[in-house]
Amino acid sequence: MDNHSNTEKPWQAVRTEAVESLLVELGVIDSARVDEFVRHYEEKVGPKGGARVVARAWMDPDFKARLMADGLAACAELGLGGPETEKLHVVENSATVHNAVVCTLCSCYPWPILGVPPAWYKSSAYRSRMVREPRRLLAEMGLVLDPAVEVRVWDSVSEIRYLVLPERPAGTESFTEEQLASLVSRDAMIGVAKVAL
Ligand code: FE
Repeated sequence: MDNHSNTEKPWQAVRTEAVESLLVELGVIDSARVDEFVRHYEEKVGPKGGARVVARAWMDPDFKARLMADGLAACAELGLGGPETEKLHVVENSATVHNAVVCTLCSCYPWPILGVPPAWYKSSAYRSRMVREPRRLLAEMGLVLDPAVEVRVWDSVSEIRYLVLPERPAGTESFTEEQLASLVSRDAMIGVAKVAL
């Protein structure tokens, strides 16, 4: 049989299942708990949490100040938090600075705020190119930045995760917090897109 057949699972999935079954066998974890954990981040958390944080920061300067000072504490005010993020550093985009987030080592990501990371975030191409040639990579992902805009790339580690606070689009002055939140995409909070009206 061809070991490289497309019908086979990726090696990461095979390895993860093997490790999980060993841990279950040894009584370290139980399968139902693992399934519950994955379902929680896939279905219950998601980027909508982060979008609420961004919208609140746009509406409320005091909240924004607290968010910039201590990301996790401010997110906790909106009921967001949990494992996989010990410290959340919020970086703000402006007309002159654009921030983008990567984890060059693996796939560190602010799970309690944005849910599970997208597949491309974990790819070696994204992880290496975001530090080597961020402008070009961003342009390929659909975000062409003015050459005058400074690009700052933040490399996540297990202790510190990042959240991009995008620029509020013009023409949203009369929007409610819910309307603003509906505009904010996951990609804008990773820094590979802007928020558009
Ligand atoms: Fe990582």
